[in-house]
Amino acid sequence: MPLPACQGRWLLPLLFLILARPASLTAATWPDEYQNGPFLFHADFPMAEHRALLDSLPHLQAQLGYLLGIQPSHEPIYVFLFARRRTYEAYLKKHFPTAPVRKALFIKGRGPGMVFVYRGDNFAVDLRHEATHAILNSALPVVPLWLDEGLAEYFELPAERRRHGSHHLRPVRLAAWVGKVPSLEDLEQRGQMTEMGRTEYRNAWAWVHFLLHGPPTARAELRSYLADIQALTPPGQLSQRLRAQLPDLERLFAEHFRNW
Ligand SMILES: [Zn+2]
Repeated sequence: MPLPACQGRWLLPLLFLILARPASLTAATWPDEYQNGPFLFHADFPMAEHRALLDSLPHLQAQLGYLLGIQPSHEPIYVFLFARRRTYEAYLKKHFPTAPVRKALFIKGRGPGMVFVYRGDNFAVDLRHEATHAILNSALPVVPLWLDEGLAEYFELPAERRRHGSHHLRPVRLAAWVGKVPSLEDLEQRGQMTEMGRTEYRNAWAWVHFLLHGPPTARAELRSYLADIQALTPPGQLSQRLRAQLPDLERLFAEHFRNW
């Protein structure tokens, strides 16, 4: 059975908090272990050939902090890497039997976040995607689902391809040319992973791209919104805050992608 194309995040309900302890997963000796910054890597294969990728994750954390204006957390992030999909699936089934079946997964309870990825065709993309979730959710007490996924879709690519190299760009540009703008309010109402399909992932990416590369006011409002979340100040809805600053939001969104 093919796994869903999208990677997943699983924030544990209260019932499962006790199970979500990285210590119980790292008690066993892993064939290879490595640390860089807050990232504690455990793999069932030698990681030497992937060292550049692993070493890019602390940079990713610094970039996210810089671009989004959030203070990075010093909390550890546990990363578990598997050579084979079958081993990855069996491991998750054993330790997290109720976790959704995804091709890569980020899991967080009350403790440090955990990333699970197997060495498939999109290993680097999957790892950066889940690491983005881990970085965001270690720094912020809560991350709206659509924004979490939109940022993960954006930052899953290597830095030089993020602005122009996403597979989402072409369909979003085509839609913008015929005046179609995805509803931000619709995305904001989606609180469950089951409500996020391919279209929602693409729309979330598109809004993130607009927020990061569109009018400077849009990025400033995103940073202000995230700063409120980090400071535990009720942030309200980002869509309302944006509309207060940019009343013609849809026109600006369409223009951004028509001219990109
Ligand atoms: Zn994700």
